[in-house]
Order: sequence, then structure tokens, then C-alpha cells
Amino acid sequence: MTARILVVDDIPANVKLLEVRLLAEYFDVLTATSGPDAIETCENGKVDVVLLDVMMPGMDGFEVCRRLKNDPATSHIPVVMITALDQVSDRVRGLEAGADDFLTKPVNDLQLMTRVKSLVRLKMLTDELRLRASTTRNIGIEELLSRKPAAEETRPKVLLIDERQSSCDRIRKMLRNTADLDIATDPHAGFFQAAEEPYECAIVSTSFADFDPLRLCSQLRSLDRTRFLPIILLAEEGEDERLIRGLELGINDYLIRPIDQQELTARLRTQVLRKRYNDHLRASVTQTIEMAVTDGLTGLHNRRYLDSHLQTLFDRAVARRRPLSVMITDLDRFKLINDTHGHDGGDDVLREFARRLRKNVRGIDLACRFGGEEFVVVMPDTDGEVAEKVAERIRAEIAQTPFPIGKSGQSMDVTVSVGVSSLKRGMDTVEALMKRADVALYEAKTAGRNRVVAKAA
Ligand code: GH3
Ligand code: MG
Ligand code: MG
Repeated sequence: MTARILVVDDIPANVKLLEVRLLAEYFDVLTATSGPDAIETCENGKVDVVLLDVMMPGMDGFEVCRRLKNDPATSHIPVVMITALDQVSDRVRGLEAGADDFLTKPVNDLQLMTRVKSLVRLKMLTDELRLRASTTRNIGIEELLSRKPAAEETRPKVLLIDERQSSCDRIRKMLRNTADLDIATDPHAGFFQAAEEPYECAIVSTSFADFDPLRLCSQLRSLDRTRFLPIILLAEEGEDERLIRGLELGINDYLIRPIDQQELTARLRTQVLRKRYNDHLRASVTQTIEMAVTDGLTGLHNRRYLDSHLQTLFDRAVARRRPLSVMITDLDRFKLINDTHGHDGGDDVLREFARRLRKNVRGIDLACRFGGEEFVVVMPDTDGEVAEKVAERIRAEIAQTPFPIGKSGQSMDVTVSVGVSSLKRGMDTVEALMKRADVALYEAKTAGRNRVVAKAA
């Protein structure tokens, strides 16, 4: 895992100390010795994680963190605050400033690597999601991305997998006010339970009499349903080897027994907030992609989707020497429908038309709203003769049954003209195929409408 870490500290010796340790793990390291410097580096460079000293003259770490988190250009960069003393008040101030994690000086090597690796992993995921979102070029996506997780925090659903009853009891007590805790004392049962319920974090003990806890972690990471479930390990003193391997397997954090309540609740909260942010981001991306290729009025695919997908279907047909047909439909005298029943009445007709169109084509056919009252259906594996029959069936179904308008029981006769074209052997292109369908449609219109014209291949 390679990533760029920015180390910020006003004392050069401290910077050097962290830099050396990070370089040894093959991270790229950038450095800054003041708050304004750090902010500038974040704005310009590709920083993946910031290690930020709290006590600096001028602008202190809290202020730097606040500014980074308030700027949409830098708010997604994880920040680890480095505090001189393990002071609860510093933690609270850090959380308020938006810090993602904490380390205390002197910085323990294993802790440093855990926090950094876990945050780098998170950052990569977030970057990937942001990239996918921005390639859809949808307006409003920046706003979606910069949205913070819901301000009011609901109690997270957490699963503890630990076979020692006394330890379970203690942790249950510690989390009484902060989480809805389920407990699995059998690791196998715990694995299945984790996959079945929507947990937001799994806390896994390392001390089983007869079971390798890391096996459980790797199983959780490989299952689709639990791939993004944060895992916190509860380890014993002296288990560094195991923790390092756990980190490589993708655990998110750890605590050493005896467990401190403050520490447990803080670490749990961080993991849950991160998961919520990423879940939200993932859902937004999915929704944005869907929105970007769907026509809002009819629910069919839109023209953008057709433009990107028709070429693929075309190339596939050519490569496999299979037929391919296209039909373009255009509602007749649609302006008149709008003039008679208003724009909303026109929209009712478009929705109903889309419904009948979808009903009359196969699942593998690609039905799109091309624009206005024009629709396109791409039919793989379909020759011109069959395509013409499909078009005729659609034309007849439109003409036969009047379209309902509004809720008042009114209805109206609607007709459609259709142009059909098919892939030609030898030289043909998507543009030529579409053009032939368009010419056919024009002929159907001039010949009196409510008819199908097919261009023989
Ligand atoms: P033709 O038989 O020659 O196709 O006549 P037409 O009236 O259908 O032709 P034209 O293409 O000139 O008019 C299409 C009309 O469709 C014009 C436009 O106002 C209307 N229209 C386009 N998009 C929408 C929409 O989303 N909803 C509604 N209600 N009307 C739309
Ligand atoms: Mg038209
Ligand atoms: Mg029309």
C-alpha cells in the first residue's frame, strides 16, 4: 500500500522522527512546519493522510483541522491529531474540529502504522467513489459528496465476538449508553451473525481457546456483505505480531487489554462515523449513476445511455455475425395532445407510451427515450423482418386502446409512426444504421402517419 502522508509539526526533529518511520514502510512523505503551510500543501498536493501536531505557534492543530474539514477541496482527507498528553479535553476538541483519529506522543510504532494504514485504505475507497461520481458529471454531485454524515448520531448496532463471559460482561457495561450490542461467544456463529444483520462495527477478541481470530477477520473481509464492516480487535499485551498480520488482512483498529472505556467508545465512534460516511457516499454514487442514465419522466434509459451503449451492441453483433435492428418511434401530432390536454396531459401520454413500449419488447432489447416524444428500441439478435413485426405490434397496440389522461377518466386516441432499420452485412456504422431508421420514420410521417416503414438491409 503506497500513499502520500503529510507530517505537520513545528519542531523539525519531530517531523524527522515520523518521516523516517513512514519512509521505512515505503510511504511517500511530505512535511510542513506550520498550519498555513500544511493547508497549502493539502490544497495543492495529492495528500492521502495528514499527521497533525496539535501544539503549534500561530495556527494550532485544531484550527488547521477545522479549516481542512470545512473546505470541500480538502474535507475528505483524513486527519490524525497528535497530542502531547492523552488528555480527554484535547480529544473532544479534536473531534469537534473534525479529526479522524488520534495519536499521543511519544508515538508508538504499531499504533502509527495502524492508524495510517487504516486511514489510507479508507481514503483510497473514498477517492474511488469520488472519481466514479465525478465521471458521471452530474450537477449536484459536489454537494452530495461534501455532505457530512447525519449530525444526530443514532446508536450503532455492534457485534462483539468474544468467548470469555467476564470480558463480554465488562464490554457490555462500557457500551451500555453508546451502542446496541449483540454478543456471539462462538466465533463460527459470530461470523454468520455478522453476515446476517446490518452491523456497523464488529469487535473481535483475539483470545479464543481453540480458534484463530485472524481467520475470522479474513473471512469477514472476503464476504460481500461484510467487506465494509469495520473490525476492531481486542488484543492482549505483547500480541504485536498478530496485530500486524491483522492489519494486513484489513482490520481497522485495535485496543489492548485492559480496555479503557474512553478509548473504546472513541475508537468505536470513529469507525462507525467513517462507515456511515462511506455508505452514504456509495449510495449517492449508485443513485447518481442511475440518475445519469435514466429518463426521469418514463423511467426508461435516456439518450446518453443509448449513445454509450449502442456502439457496444453494434460491435458485438458485427463480431458474432448476428443480426441487429433499431426502431425509432415518434408520436403523431403530439403538439395537439399538449394543446388539448396541457403539458401534464402530454406527460401522461408519454408515460403510458413508455409502459406499452416496455411491455412489447424483450428484456434484452434496449428501450430509450431519445428526446421529447421520440423513443428508440435497439433489438439485438433480431433481423429486419422480425423487427418490423414488433414495430407493427406496438403501432397497433397504441392505436387500438385510447390513452387515459389525468385522473378524471378522460382519454384520447393516440397514434405513432415508426421507422425500422437493420444491420447491413459488409460496411455499416451506428450512424448509418440510425440514419436509415430516421429516414424510414420520415417516410412513415409523410405517407400519412400511424404506420411502420422498414428499410430493408
Ligand atoms: P408529428 O406527427 O409530425 O410528429 O407532429 P408532432 O406534433 O408530434 O411534432 P413535433 O416534433 O413538432 O412536436 C413534438 C412536441 O412534443 C413539441 C414539444 O412541445 C412536445 N414535447 C417534447 N417533450 C415533451 C415532454 O417532455 N412533455 C410534453 N408534454 N411535451 C413534450
Ligand atoms: Mg418529434
Ligand atoms: Mg411527433
